[in-house]
Amino acid sequence: MIKITLPDGSVIEHSEGVTPFEVAQGISQGLARNVISASFNGKTVETTTPLNEDGTLVLYTWEDKEGKKAFWHSTAHIMAQAIQELYPNCKLTIGPAIESGFYYDVDFEDEKFTDADIPKIEKRVLEISRGKHEFHKKDVTKQEALETYKGNKYKTELIENLQEGEITFCSHSTFTDLCRGGHIPHTGTVKAFKVTSIAGAYWRGDENNPQLTRVYGISFPKQKMLKEYLEQIEEAKKRDHRKLGKELELFTFSSKVGQGLPLWLPKGAALRERLENFLKKAQRKAGYEMVVTPHIGQKELYVTSGHYAKYGKDSFQPIHTPKNEEEFLLKPMNCPHHCEIYNNKPYSYKELPKRFAEFGTVYRYEQSGELHGLTRVRGFTQDDAHIFCTPDQLAEEFKSVIDLTLYVLNALSFTEFTAQVSLRDPENKGKYIGSDENWEKAENAIIEAAKEKGLDYVVEYGEAAFYGPKLDFMIKDALGRSWQLGTIQVDYNLPERFDLTYKGSDNQLHRPVMIHRAPFGSMERFTAVLLEHTGGKFPLWLTPEQVIILPISEKYQKYAEKVLNLLENSEIRTLIDDRSEKTGRKIRDAEMKKIPFMVIVGEQEEKDGTVSVRKHGEGDLGVFKIEDFISLINKEVTQTIKEF
Ligand SMILES: [Zn+2]
Ligand SMILES: [Zn+2]
Repeated sequence: MIKITLPDGSVIEHSEGVTPFEVAQGISQGLARNVISASFNGKTVETTTPLNEDGTLVLYTWEDKEGKKAFWHSTAHIMAQAIQELYPNCKLTIGPAIESGFYYDVDFEDEKFTDADIPKIEKRVLEISRGKHEFHKKDVTKQEALETYKGNKYKTELIENLQEGEITFCSHSTFTDLCRGGHIPHTGTVKAFKVTSIAGAYWRGDENNPQLTRVYGISFPKQKMLKEYLEQIEEAKKRDHRKLGKELELFTFSSKVGQGLPLWLPKGAALRERLENFLKKAQRKAGYEMVVTPHIGQKELYVTSGHYAKYGKDSFQPIHTPKNEEEFLLKPMNCPHHCEIYNNKPYSYKELPKRFAEFGTVYRYEQSGELHGLTRVRGFTQDDAHIFCTPDQLAEEFKSVIDLTLYVLNALSFTEFTAQVSLRDPENKGKYIGSDENWEKAENAIIEAAKEKGLDYVVEYGEAAFYGPKLDFMIKDALGRSWQLGTIQVDYNLPERFDLTYKGSDNQLHRPVMIHRAPFGSMERFTAVLLEHTGGKFPLWLTPEQVIILPISEKYQKYAEKVLNLLENSEIRTLIDDRSEKTGRKIRDAEMKKIPFMVIVGEQEEKDGTVSVRKHGEGDLGVFKIEDFISLINKEVTQTIKEF
């Protein structure tokens, strides 16, 4: 008998040679139906692999990331079979699962893969799936493997890099592939499949290598899931922040200015200013002080901070003065500057914490292929702050940073988020800077803060930076996609490197601890995520134009202007559509622009001193006295952005 430990800690006994699938059957028929893949003692195994020793078994279903991975990777095998049947001379290379779906890189050589073949592949994949062919893995010798792939230089290269004894083939139906394993029990669970796109890719990502054809696909255990997925893709296209940014005139790029350097247009700049003012106000209340630092700094500064050693070669190169006497770098981080602000004068423990905040623009080189709208840029502004405190103050400070971050996320309609707490690798404590005692204090402080604030968090060991543990916020947007936003990071390294001190109650000098934090992350990335989350329908307090006045004819232009003045005096962002278009057309256009409130004025309204109000996406709200309409707007604003 062997002892099998399940993730919940329970231990069950089975006879030697039991398979993960049989273990699942023993637990429940439902689990057996849904089990997709498994890992045993941390290693991926097939659900049909006999288990011959005691160990921990994890069974994965579609709901697990590992389950999806096995499902998609298995479908890549099936797709490879379909492709090979259609193009007997093609050379298969690799076919991994990715974030959503999978791909297979194929060398079609002289044959040409055309879009017309996609339906044939899709049809054949589903035919093979219906055959319920089991996946079987077997060990092969290097020689056997090389023999099998004699004409395929790609597989040959892969095999040559493998050790004797670790080479396995996986088969289903009549098809065999070189593979490490991790498959669904049989092809029958693949109920829906689609080729999602075709692209070029170089073998091993190296442009000196032959170009291959990358066939992307996705599959699901239910037809309905594919339909939902495709709908979501359509919706995501509509919400693409690059498209919305253009439509709403928020930002642009210019090849003359340079790639990855966003230009904020007036409406975008105003929106950004509102975001900044919102955070500044909350930060003021939380005891932060604003500072301003330059966009460049002496190379020496970043040598001291360690940034130069770490990123210097791969980022923007130093700027030289006319006589080459000095070297400067574009600022990659604000922290070194803030350390020098701290160093401006001596502090006593009674004066701590010091909290220095800056909307600081930083520059980091990204390869042009990596650039993407506002999410991957070469110059961006962080809503940065650095807190310098005593080790005993760390827990309190951490909690108040979490409070601030939650305040920000709520005001911006992000309600679903999780946090990741990154701690030291307990097996390898030597690679981290800072004393054991301080690390323990900081790690406990973070976990306690996350618990106390009711965060839904996971702990990842070994994910901390070498200089301190951290907490990252992952938000889920309206389409269920995850984005990493704000981060809170403890740092023992920079205070050391910059020789930061404070005088303790014992009259001795001590090292402060530093916290880096940015609730938005960066203004660019946050705006992009917010655009994709809201589809451009921003919360009322933030949106560029809150009200549009639609006079039903020129005759009411004067009255429209009077209403505009009253609204603007109450700081409501308003404009008039004074085109000589029909009212219906004006309403449609205002809906398109996603302006939250439309105010229609004509004879009756002028006579009564009222406005007829329509709300975006909701329709007619009825007739309001102007002051009532103003308080309606103010109420909606104060409901979403409460005082910090
Ligand atoms: Zn495989
Ligand atoms: Zn920092």
